[in-house]
Amino acid sequence: MASRVCLVHYHEIGLKGKNRKTFEDQLCTNLRLALRDLPVAHVGRISGHLLVTFSTAEAPLVAAPLIRQVPGVARVSVAFRCERDPEQFCAAAVEALAEAEPFSTFKVHAKRSNTDYELHTMDLNRLVGTALCHAFPEKKVDVHEPDATVHVLVNQGNVYVYCASEPGVGGLPVGTAAKCVSLFSSGFDSPVATWMMGRRGAVMVPVHFSGRPQTSDASEWTCQDIVRALQPEGAIGRLYVVPFGDCQREIALAVPQSLRVIMYRRLMYDVAQRIARVEGAKALVTGESLGQVASQTLENITATSEVVEGLPVLRPLIGSDKQEIMARAKAIGTYELSAQTVPDCCTLFMPRRPETHARLADVHTAWEAFDHEAMAERLLDEVEWVDFPGCAAYRPPKRWRPRHEELAPL
Ligand code: ATP
Ligand code: MG
Repeated sequence: MASRVCLVHYHEIGLKGKNRKTFEDQLCTNLRLALRDLPVAHVGRISGHLLVTFSTAEAPLVAAPLIRQVPGVARVSVAFRCERDPEQFCAAAVEALAEAEPFSTFKVHAKRSNTDYELHTMDLNRLVGTALCHAFPEKKVDVHEPDATVHVLVNQGNVYVYCASEPGVGGLPVGTAAKCVSLFSSGFDSPVATWMMGRRGAVMVPVHFSGRPQTSDASEWTCQDIVRALQPEGAIGRLYVVPFGDCQREIALAVPQSLRVIMYRRLMYDVAQRIARVEGAKALVTGESLGQVASQTLENITATSEVVEGLPVLRPLIGSDKQEIMARAKAIGTYELSAQTVPDCCTLFMPRRPETHARLADVHTAWEAFDHEAMAERLLDEVEWVDFPGCAAYRPPKRWRPRHEELAPL
């Protein structure tokens, strides 16, 4: 009897040379974690694909939407796994095509990953096509632009048959690129930027600067909700929170009003790079988009990123329109959460007229007007965190591991 399985198709991993197995293995690990609540029997590699088998009949249909969200997955098909028995795979083809209703035209597309099967692709197309013509006498074959295509894949001793195939998020498996620390507000942009880097295989470590104790901790809860919404991607294992309100207050009293935002940002970048060093992260990531707000002119971006030494600051959204970012936020499930207005450090001690084209000499003078080094050290000491179970590749840093239990959960 044919069983239902999820056949996972990848694209970019297929372009990898010698280390392709490493990418496939990481994707298998990530899929196992993403499907941990389902009755999965096995996740493994077959030639050119990954295969997920289950111990119940309904599970593949529940699993497919989860699999689609895992980086590295180009497509997923809920397929019939058959013996190399024409009667069995022709019957499966009839069932697969019936699921494609409504349709008027169809074709069969056979492919062999192993050439040790006596039936060639042309034979398979003809055999399965004949069975389908019998089963669906009112439908027509169209080999050029069919409404439905029945795929018949001969692969390692089995024949897989499927019709419907859903697109995945693409990209590369999380854990195949380095760790990145992302500056994570509860707004629209930084969650999208974080998601994008996760899709490229990076393990993401978000750091949120909250206005606490000068504001409530509302933004911290929103950030946790956003991280939870991003869990299906599997890129985040821990969220750091830095209570930033008191430092903002001190800065606001010490520097010219128009330069406050740049000073806040410089301190955020500085603390983020210190966390990156403890975490062993190889880059900082922000949600900045050129010219979107006052702090995101090129002059101000230069004035803030100047404090980061030895790490690239990546800005995946730098050339994106707000509309595109919003559309992506909707697609990844963070839009509604980011749309809530919560007081955070961005609304605290804000100047009426922020500087849009800061002169570096003025920035340097303001930076020396308060003890930024002591502040950064103090903030690093006060950092708190929440762990999430969704990232297979996340390893917490040794330095903070023993302190974890002592810290109050957020
Ligand atoms: P976002 O939608 O991500 O909040 P934004 O359009 O509001 O971005 P800014 O407020 O200027 O832009 O922030 C620019 C970037 O600085 C953010 O994308 C984020 O990476 C970082 N950032 C801003 N506020 C915070 C914060 N409270 N905690 C951590 N990072 C922050
Ligand atoms: Mg913001």
